Amino acid sequence: MHELSIAMRVVDLAAARCRDAGGDIVTAVTVRVGRLAAVHGGALAAAFEMAREGTPLAEATLRVVDVPVRVWCPQCRAEADLTDVVPLACPACGRPTGDLRAGHELEVESIEVVGPRGDTVGAGA
Ligand SMILES: [Zn+2]
Repeated sequence: MHELSIAMRVVDLAAARCRDAGGDIVTAVTVRVGRLAAVHGGALAAAFEMAREGTPLAEATLRVVDVPVRVWCPQCRAEADLTDVVPLACPACGRPTGDLRAGHELEVESIEVVGPRGDTVGAGA
């Protein structure tokens, strides 16, 4: 299951950042997922619930930021976000382009961490 390995990686990364920040518990984790990463949001949420068991993320909220596919058009000399990747072309002038600038993201953007005294010790990247 593709989403489970992703969820486990998210948990590992967030738990490591939590330790680095001197925190005990991760209360929320935000991940950026590109449209081309082929991740199903519902499946990722279910996998996250399994992966977080027994970790500092056991009670954490998962937030998924949807990153659109962005291409560079050499004709317009501009980047453009695509609502549909078929065809893979500039939405302004229609020129086909395979120059992808965003859409494959799969990364932990930020976490919210609570420390030993229940204080918020760190948030952000
Ligand atoms: Zn164009």
